Amino acid sequence: MLTNDELAKWDRDSFMHPSTHLAQHARGEAPGKIIQTAEGCHITDRDGNRMLDAFAGLYCVNIGYGRQEVAEAIADQARELAYYHAYVGHGTEASVTLAHMVMERAPAHMSKVYFGLGGSDANETNIKLVWYYNNIRGLPQKKKIISRWRGYHGSGLMSGSLTGLTLFHQKFDLPLDTVLHTTSPYYYRRDDLSLSEEQFTAKCAADLEEMIEREGADTIAAFIAEPMLGTGGIVPPPAGYWQAIEPILRKHDILLIADEVVTGFGRLGSMFGSPHYGITPDIMTIAKGLTSAYAPLSGSILSDKVWTVLEQGTDENGPIGHGWTYSAHPIGAAAGVANLKLLDSLNLVQNAGEVGPYLTAQMAETLGDHAHVGEVRGEGMLTAVELVRDRDSRTFFDAADKITPQVVAAMGRRGVVARAMPQGDIIGYAPPLCLSRDEADTVVQVTADAIKEVLG
Ligand code: PLP
Repeated sequence: MLTNDELAKWDRDSFMHPSTHLAQHARGEAPGKIIQTAEGCHITDRDGNRMLDAFAGLYCVNIGYGRQEVAEAIADQARELAYYHAYVGHGTEASVTLAHMVMERAPAHMSKVYFGLGGSDANETNIKLVWYYNNIRGLPQKKKIISRWRGYHGSGLMSGSLTGLTLFHQKFDLPLDTVLHTTSPYYYRRDDLSLSEEQFTAKCAADLEEMIEREGADTIAAFIAEPMLGTGGIVPPPAGYWQAIEPILRKHDILLIADEVVTGFGRLGSMFGSPHYGITPDIMTIAKGLTSAYAPLSGSILSDKVWTVLEQGTDENGPIGHGWTYSAHPIGAAAGVANLKLLDSLNLVQNAGEVGPYLTAQMAETLGDHAHVGEVRGEGMLTAVELVRDRDSRTFFDAADKITPQVVAAMGRRGVVARAMPQGDIIGYAPPLCLSRDEADTVVQVTADAIKEVLG
C-alpha cells in the first residue's frame, strides 16, 4: 500500500481537481482529504479519522454510504454485462427497468426519461431538446433560456451559462449570450429590506415578466430553475413564488425545466421537488439521488407535451442526433434500480421529511440568537446557516475574511463535514437521508462550537 506521503506527492504532481484552487493545491498548501471507507452517514480517511458527512458527498449519497445491496447489484451487472450501448433502441434489463421505475415515481404528465451521466450533461441535453422542440414547431426564433442569479445547473458550456454564480463564469467567457438571468428568489438577500416576503415574490414575478416583454416572448424558449435554490445558498422559495412564476411562463408559451438534481429522490421529504411546490414542469433534470452516486447516471424526464413534438421531429427528420456512448450505462442503471428499491424499503423519503426539519429546528433553536447568525433556513434534509457581520443592519462579511471556510474547517476538526457554499457566508448541510436524530444533534452541537471558536 502507498504511504500517505507518496499519495500526496502523486496527487500534487498528477491530478487536476475540479473546483479547486489549483496553484495552492499543487504547492501543497491546501491538501484535500483522501477518503478510504464510509458507512451510513460517516466517512473515514486514510489516517483513520471518522467524520459525520453532513453534506452526503456533494448532496448525492441519499441512501447513505456502504449499502451492500447496491455494491452487489453493480458487481452482478459488471460480471454479466459491463457495457452495451443504448443507441438505435438498444437497452439492457437494468436500463429498461430503471426507466420504468423512474416514470412510476415521476408526476403523471411526464412521459419518458433519457439517461445521461451527470447533472451538467443532462442540462445540456435539455437545452438541445428545447431548441429542437421549437424548430419542429416552426418557431426557430424562440431559443433564449432564462435562468436565475444564484441558480446552479452545472459547469459545461451551456449548463455553466445557466448557472448564476460568478465563480463559474469569470475568465471562461460565460454566460453564452442565449442565456439571461433573472432575480434570485432569495428573500434574506433582497436589495430592498422594506419589502415583505409577499412583496418580494411579486417583485420576482414582475422582474421575470418585464424581461420576457423586453426580449420578446417569441425569442424565449424556456425557464430553468431548481425547485429550491441549492448551491446558490440553500434557500427555500419565498411564499407564493412558484404560484406567481408558473402562470407567467404558461402565458408566454415558455417551457419550464425543473432542475431536480438535488431535490429529486427524497431530499425535500417528497420524491420530487416539483410536486412539493405544486409545479408542473415540462422537463425535469435528475442525477445525484438517482443512484445515490454509487455510479454516475443522470436523466432528463420529458413531459407528454415535449415528447409528442420529439416524435413528430423524428418522423420528419429521422433519428434524433443526440446521444452519449455511456447514455443509460448498465452499471449506473443497475445501481439506480438497487438504490430506488432501498430508498423505498428503508422509508428514507419519510425520514428526510422528519429528521431534516428537526435538524433545521434544532439549529435555529441553538444558534438563532447568535450575534453573527443572520438566518437559519431549510426544507426537508437541506439546511443553511447564514453568517453576517451585523444582524440588525444585515451587513455581510468580506469574502476575503473567509469566515465560513474557517467555521467549516473548525467543524472538520470536530468530526463533522459541512460545506462552505461558494457565494456568501453560508454553511450548507445536506446529509444522507438516513440521518438519525442523534446524528442531527451532533451536527448542531459541532456547528455551535465551531462558530464559537471562530466568531466568539
Ligand atoms: N443541477 C443542479 C441543481 C446541481 O446541484 C448540480 C450539481 O451540484 C448540477 C446540476 C450539475 O451536476 P453535475 O455536477 O453532476 O454535472
